[in-house]
Amino acid sequence: MKNADPIWDHVDRHRDDFIALSDQVFDTPETLYAEFESVAEHKRMLQSQGFKLTENAAGIPTAVIGEAGDEGPVIAILGEFDALPYLSQAPGVAEHQPLAEGGNGHGCGHNLLGAAALLAATAVKDWMAENGIKGRVRYYGCPAEEGGAAKTYMVREGLFDDVDAAISWHPATFTGVNEARSLANTRIDFTFHGKAAHAAGAPELGRSALDAVELMNIGVNYLREHMPDSARVHYAYLDAGGVAPNVVQAKATVRQLVRASSLPELADLVARVRNIADGAALMTGTQVTSQVFSGVSNLLGNRPLEEAMQHELEKLGPVAFDDADQTFARDIQTTLTAADIATTFKRIGAKPVKDLALCDFIAPLDRHSDGGEGSTDVGDVSWAVPTVQARVATCAIGTPFHTWQTVAQGKAPAAHKGMIYAAKAMAATACRLVENQPLIAAARDTHQEHLEQTPYTCPIPDDVRPPV
Ligand SMILES: [Zn+2]
Repeated sequence: MKNADPIWDHVDRHRDDFIALSDQVFDTPETLYAEFESVAEHKRMLQSQGFKLTENAAGIPTAVIGEAGDEGPVIAILGEFDALPYLSQAPGVAEHQPLAEGGNGHGCGHNLLGAAALLAATAVKDWMAENGIKGRVRYYGCPAEEGGAAKTYMVREGLFDDVDAAISWHPATFTGVNEARSLANTRIDFTFHGKAAHAAGAPELGRSALDAVELMNIGVNYLREHMPDSARVHYAYLDAGGVAPNVVQAKATVRQLVRASSLPELADLVARVRNIADGAALMTGTQVTSQVFSGVSNLLGNRPLEEAMQHELEKLGPVAFDDADQTFARDIQTTLTAADIATTFKRIGAKPVKDLALCDFIAPLDRHSDGGEGSTDVGDVSWAVPTVQARVATCAIGTPFHTWQTVAQGKAPAAHKGMIYAAKAMAATACRLVENQPLIAAARDTHQEHLEQTPYTCPIPDDVRPPV
């Protein structure tokens, strides 16, 4: 296909370098604020492309911002590069084959996400320079999307205060504008403090912190029936009080992850979970303390930006996969269940297409989606500035994210094609914004209307710092 938009050429020009960047990050999978190699690669690329760097953004060593251009509107393009634990997997094979037992892996495709975002920012920079266009493009290299809420801290630091619009994307099994459906959440660690005692000789002298954690979990179980349908509470034992059953456990910690569809709903649910913790402490004669670990807001949509991005996706058409891509995707699909495959279609409200291995359409803007709501710290950016995201097909239909199958496809030619496509979609949307002040104004007005209805409060308390 002939390049119909000059910005696509600017993307294609850097194709190989940014595919190499994505592959490099894939090969050094790092998690939760420890993305030192990955951010170093992103910094090297920013520097070689002539961006002005802000390192240690929001006091986070693995966060970086690169800016280019001057005057005019400020467009933020958001990237990520963190991996997930226990998902080590050899690329390019359709079977579970860990490279390192217990090792990390790019199970959410953030190697692609970050490289495409940086590529889009580079293309916009080149396009503005070539055409003498006023405007600034800023790449936000954001760590710890998986559970660390780095963007929430970056928003809290005011790093988006002068931004006119933010653009991002996420690898996916289909292509379309991302629907603004995600859950606000917070992770709170509850620590119970009891009293140790000989569990047989003098149990009456002990006060069990482990009992308190168990009672708290039972209380939360009873809460679940009386929550809004979309709300969720999950938990993990961070400290079960030790390995000796003959000692009454003096200290135990449970992390509660509370999710709700809006910030006010989240605040209400968190208050109820806190009451349950107090009740468990009272029942067991222990004391409870709590510490917020992280928090993110639900996503706010922005119709003018979504329409602008949809237009760019339709101009691009579906990602052009070839026969080899189809063959590998089919091999991956043999490892999936029929339910996995049906889920992809359900999530976008589309009728299942038999034997379709890779997405060959653009999902419509107004679709009826079902299920699949997670959380993302892009949510907080979307409360700070008008924000839009694409979903671009990079892997086989039915691939569940956060699994070895996602990692196995993370360096495949199909993933690279999706990544380049995503860079074009984001860069083109950015160009339309820079060229078109009324679009920026419409996005801003829509955003203001949302904020007037529900003001934003940061879900992370002021005294909680990034865990770095
Ligand atoms: Zn992700």
